Amino acid sequence: MPEMRAVVTYPKQQGKVEMIEVERPAIGAGEVLIRMRDVGIDGTDTEVIEAAHGGGAPEGDDYLILGHESLGQVAEVGDGVSGLKQGDWVVSTVRRPDGCPNCRRGEYDMCLWGDYTERGIKGAHGYLAEYVKEQPQFIVPIPEALRPVGALVEPLSINEKAITQAWDIQRRMHWKPRTALVFGLGTIGILAAMLLRHRGLDTYIYSRESARTKTVKMVREIGINYVGADDVPRVADLARQFDRVDFMLEATGAAEVAAEAMQTVQPNGVLCLLSVTGKAKRLPLDVAAINQRLVLGNGVIFGSVNSSPVHFRRAVRDLQSFNEKWPGFAERLITRRVPFEKFDRALKQRPSDIKVLIQVSTDA
Ligand code: BGC
Ligand code: ZN
Repeated sequence: MPEMRAVVTYPKQQGKVEMIEVERPAIGAGEVLIRMRDVGIDGTDTEVIEAAHGGGAPEGDDYLILGHESLGQVAEVGDGVSGLKQGDWVVSTVRRPDGCPNCRRGEYDMCLWGDYTERGIKGAHGYLAEYVKEQPQFIVPIPEALRPVGALVEPLSINEKAITQAWDIQRRMHWKPRTALVFGLGTIGILAAMLLRHRGLDTYIYSRESARTKTVKMVREIGINYVGADDVPRVADLARQFDRVDFMLEATGAAEVAAEAMQTVQPNGVLCLLSVTGKAKRLPLDVAAINQRLVLGNGVIFGSVNSSPVHFRRAVRDLQSFNEKWPGFAERLITRRVPFEKFDRALKQRPSDIKVLIQVSTDA
């Protein structure tokens, strides 16, 4: 059997990551072989490596191939597969369904039973390998023009879902949102702010980062406002600066910020929680105050995770719109590209990083 290189972690040996040789997948009828190009790294990968996510290796293996933000090219198509051909640029979704009613309907991001797997995260191998085998229903084609930013489709799809859900929730009333507040200046926070800005909202990002960093300068170029915790240490004080905040999205990964955001939901407002805070320490919370605020203000706090093909397709469409509206901007979110063999460099976050990609293979 031909072999291939893959970057793996061992759920039972916290912190261990290495490149190993594994068997190269062979496809059968109805399957597609994808040659991986770029794989993005995010906070979830760190959690998986530190065994803080609660995932695990696929049955029968002691290792898990990492990586869930993919961009690849179709290398081979099995019998009976239509609509995909060799050379097509593709992104794969992350979650794989169990048999629950939602999963059966294709809404596996809304899984009911929790027995789903997630590639590169929980019970299924990910995309940090030279080749990946996939079923067509989990593949989303992307236009070649998006090749440089294709690995952003997955993180953007997370925001597409979160924002779609918030807008659906707000159908409960007359709602004309004007102001949005995003917590977090990472890839998820910035992409969320881009989507909200693109929808015409007055959009603010709040984070601990100093207002003088390069990243802050960058987001301001496209009309996103920034407030740093240096200038306004408390979220409650920040909220007082606006006459209204219609939508808030938390993507810092810090439980402290999530807690503050929960205590700041505005009348008729909605807060979407997006951070996985697996290892955070316990925090005191004024439950009565939160309850009072939500009740008297018709507030909503909801969590959102993962995304389905529909959100990936929206992400593809919106990335194209971003490129038209703000040429070259999305690509600047990719601050480093690291060759496959040097994968460990990508796993060490630097202060100037936004999105770091591992180049599993280049186009030639
Ligand atoms: C991924 C999602 C996944 C979530 C929880 C995120 O980083 O983008 O697809 O569902 O982690 O595991
Ligand atoms: Zn399910």
